[in-house]
Amino acid sequence: MIFITPITAEDIEVLCNALENLYFNKLHRPNTAPYEKELLRYWSVANTNTRPPCIFQPTLAAEVSEAVKLISKGDVLVAIKSGGHTANDFASTDEGLLIALGNMDQLDYRNGRAFVGPGGRWSQVIEQLDKYNVTVVGGRIGNVGVGGLLLGGGLSFLSPQYGLAAENVLNYQVVLADGSIVNANECENPELFFGLKGGGNQLGIVTEFTLKTYPIGLVYGGVIFYHGRYNTELLEAFETFRHKNEPKGSIVLTFTKTGDTDVAVLLVFFDGTDPGTLFEEFINIESIKLDLKIWKYAELLKNNDDLAIAPGLGWVIRTITYHPSPELLQVNYRIWNETTNELLSLPNTTYGITYHLLPASISNTTQKSVLDLESVDLIWIELANAWRNPTHNNIQIFQLKTVADAVEEAKLRMNQHNGYLPLYSNDAWKDQPVLKTLKGYNHLKKVKQLYDPHNFWDRTRGFRI
Ligand SMILES: Cc1cc2nc3c(=O)[nH]c(=O)nc-3n(C[C@H](O)[C@H](O)[C@H](O)COP(=O)(O)OP(=O)(O)OC[C@H]3O[C@@H](n4cnc5c(N)ncnc54)[C@H](O)[C@@H]3O)c2cc1C
Repeated sequence: MIFITPITAEDIEVLCNALENLYFNKLHRPNTAPYEKELLRYWSVANTNTRPPCIFQPTLAAEVSEAVKLISKGDVLVAIKSGGHTANDFASTDEGLLIALGNMDQLDYRNGRAFVGPGGRWSQVIEQLDKYNVTVVGGRIGNVGVGGLLLGGGLSFLSPQYGLAAENVLNYQVVLADGSIVNANECENPELFFGLKGGGNQLGIVTEFTLKTYPIGLVYGGVIFYHGRYNTELLEAFETFRHKNEPKGSIVLTFTKTGDTDVAVLLVFFDGTDPGTLFEEFINIESIKLDLKIWKYAELLKNNDDLAIAPGLGWVIRTITYHPSPELLQVNYRIWNETTNELLSLPNTTYGITYHLLPASISNTTQKSVLDLESVDLIWIELANAWRNPTHNNIQIFQLKTVADAVEEAKLRMNQHNGYLPLYSNDAWKDQPVLKTLKGYNHLKKVKQLYDPHNFWDRTRGFRI
């Protein structure tokens, strides 16, 4: 025997030793190069600043299974990381075992399907599929991880045509709480299959996703930068674009302020090389820099990586959902602008508000997710503050909540709070009750009872079911 059962929370050392005995090269301790490197590969310092007693970097589902079996012998905590892009402190731990799936970045293409490991990055996945002239529904910034994006839902440039990324998963290979490795698809474990489509990380560890593929050729798009003073015109153009109802086209509009800098950034995408006049309202607004051209899809995603702010920052994000109304889009901007102006004196801080458009066409998919979107246009607002000074943590979190509350009040005042308004977990702060807002929530609770009756996955941080 390697250790005495049961392992208690204090016995994390025993667990680390047991894994080290089994997988010497894959278990890493503090102050070793692989350990420190792993912790640097996060989006937010909320995860980077943790010090897990040890990090396990498996390459096979069987190894993940072995780790889960060992953990389940006691009450040690666990954290799961794929690409590490969550803004919440969900993807690491100070007390427990960190299972970092970055080396499970396998990709295979067979019979028109892509078999993708959770540890891959979207630009890498899409680049490898390019040689087959096919693609998958994935992230819009190349460096984002596969695992977390797919488990939260996944909004893609291709979503208006093919649905959320999670709605394009055909099979999940999952390690359950008892360490068993199962498949979840329409025929095997169909309840689990449903729950993993947007239900998050509280059902198991996904070790491989089988994804639908779609033909892709060259695409058109890129980035346009504007001065933030064009906010009114940009939001009007956003509305005009929405009414064009062209599922091959997609945009993401972000306003961002740092010190004296006040800019708007528009991500543009068209599945094809000739968008005609689809983006003309945006092109006609005076820009600081316009970089729209024809690309390989993976190159466009990699180019978008340059927009991501450097690591080493604290982050808070919040999400708000509403039905688009020209007035509310503008009011929302004004609330954000006025409230953030009050804080602009804080050094090394960036404020952002992103307008994500979910056209009704996203719901035209056969594979329903927990989000179960209706056939109406929605706006997902993503508010984000990023800062360097850790003493500002509380004020930043408080400020963003103030902005979000004011927008919710405006929604109510303008009678825009009715109907189904699902929150998006991947853009949400940890105190937002996201899963409860989803149409599939009651179903998800039953799936949780079925597949995690002893609440094993409560040991990992994430949105609770
Ligand atoms: C710069 C940037 C761009 C983004 N762009 C998009 C976008 O275009 N579309 C979009 O929809 N979202 C986008 N997001 C949000 C993104 O979907 C989430 O941050 C997502 O969590 C990232 O996935 P990850 O694998 O990198 O995350 P991680 O931080 O590794 O994981 C996130 C959560 O999922 C859990 N998890 C991860 N892998 C597994 C697994 N295999 N099994 C079980 N649980 C797991 C983790 O425990 C954690 O709770 C973006 C975020 C950033 C920072």
